[in-house]
Amino acid sequence: MSVLELRDLHITYRTEGGDVPAVRGVNLTLERGDTVGLAGESGCGKSTIAAAVLRLLPKGTNVSGQVLLEGEDVYAMKPGRLRAVRWTSAAIVFQGALHSLNPVRRVGHQIAEAIRLHAPHGSAAHHTDARVGELLERVGLPAERAQHYPHQLSGGQRQRVLIALALACEPKLLIADEPTTALDVMVQAQVLALLEELQRDHGLSLLFITHDLSVLTHTCEKLAVMYAGRIVEQGPSQTVFNSPEHPYTRALAASFPTIGDPASRMNPRGLAGDPPDPSALPSGCPFHIRCDVATPECTTLDVALRDVVSPGAAPGRSAACVHVGVARV
Ligand code: ADP
Ligand code: MG
Repeated sequence: MSVLELRDLHITYRTEGGDVPAVRGVNLTLERGDTVGLAGESGCGKSTIAAAVLRLLPKGTNVSGQVLLEGEDVYAMKPGRLRAVRWTSAAIVFQGALHSLNPVRRVGHQIAEAIRLHAPHGSAAHHTDARVGELLERVGLPAERAQHYPHQLSGGQRQRVLIALALACEPKLLIADEPTTALDVMVQAQVLALLEELQRDHGLSLLFITHDLSVLTHTCEKLAVMYAGRIVEQGPSQTVFNSPEHPYTRALAASFPTIGDPASRMNPRGLAGDPPDPSALPSGCPFHIRCDVATPECTTLDVALRDVVSPGAAPGRSAACVHVGVARV
């Protein structure tokens, strides 16, 4: 059974200024032990999907389609079941959470509290002191760090504490929303290595969210690229990154500096202009305004994600572009 399945997920925020269709028909599946990267520029709907998985969206937000955690429909769960599932089936490391630790509580205390509140009663996790030390060691921190206050830790160490918190009840799925964005490059690499290790050694499934496509290719086997609330390309991460099919993925990949090529850092290519406002999407393919291969039909046709069958294409790839070789059904 899949750890996570999103089926035709649509999410619309209700605001005073009108409806914001932030997610528009997303399908995504994570099997046990899978590492899937969700990429795309700011505003394309990544964090909205993360929040939707555990029903953490603002009240009144319209959600349709299905979110299945281990086959169970999250939006059909009773409150008690939902609370249990939130820490034991899936946990989230939120975007921008580096300052969310309580500044006047020792970090060990904060992890112990999470265990007390959320671990199933009577479980081994209730031997909290030993458990806190074990969790800290699992994320590469000495157990003594439990005695420290957040301000005594570096950004990278605090991110590790947040990961330890998320792991407190042994979730099967970890959703990490931009976990490295606020960290410097060296520390980013260490946090990525940690997530890879957790995935490998503990069979964790990982949904890794970032705007930085290049970060994902090392960490994730599969990659889904989002634009304006939809997945526009999907496939094995190395092939998607190295030979993108969708013009948006191509531009996004080119906009990040190539490692070992200082010139590309100085002068990133691709991706002129801004992503569209979800409440005022252009007609046809929402990317056509910024696309360098757009033709007149792109202003009217908005094609769905389809299997790519162009010669030489790796298996398991799909793209939503009228110009990409596809299997017609
Ligand atoms: P990402 O994580 O990819 O940057 P988000 O999921 O945060 O994107 O946002 C997707 C879209 O939804 C954006 O246009 C954003 O402005 C809008 N949005 C996000 N949160 C809210 C909210 N609480 N109310 C209204 N609109 C929102
Ligand atoms: Mg986000």
